[in-house]
Amino acid sequence: MKRVAILGGGPAGAIAAEQLAAAGMRVALFDEKLAWEKPCGGGLTYKAYSQYPFLLDNPTPKRFVTETTLSAPRAGEVNLKLDEPLLIYSRFDLNRMLLERAERAGAQLEKTRVTGLERRGSGWALKTPGGVAEADFCIVATGARNPLRDVGTQLKPGDTMSALGYYVQGVQERIDIQFLPKLEGYIWIFPRCGHLSIGICGKGEPASALRKRLELYMMERGISWKDAAFYSHLLPSLETRSWKSNRVAGEGWMAVGDAAGLVDPITGEGLYYAIRSGDLAAGALLEAGGAGAEAHYRRLLRRDFAADLELGSRIAKRFFGGKFLLGAIPSRMVQFTRRSPRFSAIMQDLFAGKQPYLGLKRRLLQNLNGSLYEMLMSLGFAKVVPGRLFAKPENY
Ligand SMILES: Cc1cc2nc3c(=O)[nH]c(=O)nc-3n(C[C@H](O)[C@H](O)[C@H](O)COP(=O)(O)OP(=O)(O)OC[C@H]3O[C@@H](n4cnc5c(N)ncnc54)[C@H](O)[C@@H]3O)c2cc1C
Repeated sequence: MKRVAILGGGPAGAIAAEQLAAAGMRVALFDEKLAWEKPCGGGLTYKAYSQYPFLLDNPTPKRFVTETTLSAPRAGEVNLKLDEPLLIYSRFDLNRMLLERAERAGAQLEKTRVTGLERRGSGWALKTPGGVAEADFCIVATGARNPLRDVGTQLKPGDTMSALGYYVQGVQERIDIQFLPKLEGYIWIFPRCGHLSIGICGKGEPASALRKRLELYMMERGISWKDAAFYSHLLPSLETRSWKSNRVAGEGWMAVGDAAGLVDPITGEGLYYAIRSGDLAAGALLEAGGAGAEAHYRRLLRRDFAADLELGSRIAKRFFGGKFLLGAIPSRMVQFTRRSPRFSAIMQDLFAGKQPYLGLKRRLLQNLNGSLYEMLMSLGFAKVVPGRLFAKPENY
C-alpha cells in the first residue's frame, strides 16, 4: 500500500486526503494549524456545491445568500437576485468539516509544520519539529504562501493579489461588490453567520494602499473597523505566461489548490478549484498508481478548468481596465445588468459558475444586439431606435 503524505490541511489537502484514504491508501495529513480561520470570504458557488453536494447537505453552520448588489464608479448600483444562492461558511467551520471527513475516511491527521522535504530514493523524507516522516508520494497543499521552494507554483512578481479586510459585527442579507477606479480588484461585503467579512483584493497595488481604499469605503458607509479583527493574505492570480509554465507536478509530487496557483484571476475564487484539484490529484494517483500520475494530473487539470482560468488571466486586465462604449467595463456591466434581462441572465450564470470564460465572448456577442436593444428600450429610446441604430432582435 502506498504511503501518501498530504502537506497542508486546507480544502485542497483535506479533499485529497479523504479520497485517497477512502480508496484504501495510507494517508498522513500534516498541517501546522489544522482547522483555523484562514483569511477568506468563505463563499462557495453553485458550481462547487452542485458537484460536491455534501457542501450543502451537512449540519455545519453556513449562510445562503440570494442577492448581491454590484456597484461601480459613475454607474451607481444594481441588485442581482441569485437563482443559485452563494453559500458562505466561516473557514474554521469549513476546514473542520473537511478534515473530519478525511479523518473518518481513514486519514491520519498530524498537527505539525513541515519544515523541509527531501527526496530519498523513490520516496520522500518530511522534516517536522517532531522528527522525520517518510512517504512514497507527496501532495503539496500548503496554500499561497507555500514555504517549500522546490515543489508547487513558483509565483513571480505579478502572479499574486493582496487580499485583506476586517471581520465586523453586523447583519446583512446580501453580498455587496464594489468596483473602484483604477483597481484590478474589488471590495466585498460578505454576510457570515453572526458577522460580516468586509475586504478588498487587488493586483499591482501595495497592501497599505488597498487598506486605505477599504477604510475609506467603510468610513463613507459609517462602518467602524475599531475593535474589528483584521486579516490579510496572498491570493495567487497568475499572469497568462505563468499558466504556461505553471509547476503543478513533478516526480513523486503534485500540487493542489493555492499551492498550484489555481485561483480565478478575476474573481479570486479559489475554494472550488482547491477542492476540485484535490479531487483530481487523488483520482490521478489512484488511476495511474504512482508512475505517470503527475502527467495524468496535468492533463486532468487542463481538461477540467486550468484552460478556463488561463483565459481568465487574459481577460482580467481588459475587464478591470478596459472600456466599452467609452465607459469603464465594470461600470458598463452594472448598467447593462440593471437594464437588460439578457445580460442579467449572463451575470447570474457567471456568479453561479455556470458560465465559464471559455464561451463567454461568444455568448456576449450573440446577446449584444438584444442587450443593447433592451438597454435602450429601458432608457426610453423606444421610438427612435428600432430599425435604425440597433435592429430589433428577431426573437422579440
Ligand atoms: C481575503 C481572501 C478572501 C477569499 N475569499 C474567497 C471566497 O470567498 N471564495 C473562494 O472561493 N475563495 C476565496 N479566497 C481564496 C481561498 O481562500 C483559497 O483559494 C483557498 O483557501 C485555497 O485552499 P488551499 O487548501 O489550497 O489552501 P489553504 O486554505 O491556504 O490551506 C493551506 C494549509 O496549509 C497549511 N500549511 C502551510 N504551510 C505548511 C507547512 N509548512 N506545514 C504544515 N502545514 C502548512 C496551512 O496551515 C493551511 O491550513 C479568498 C482568499 C483570500 C486571501
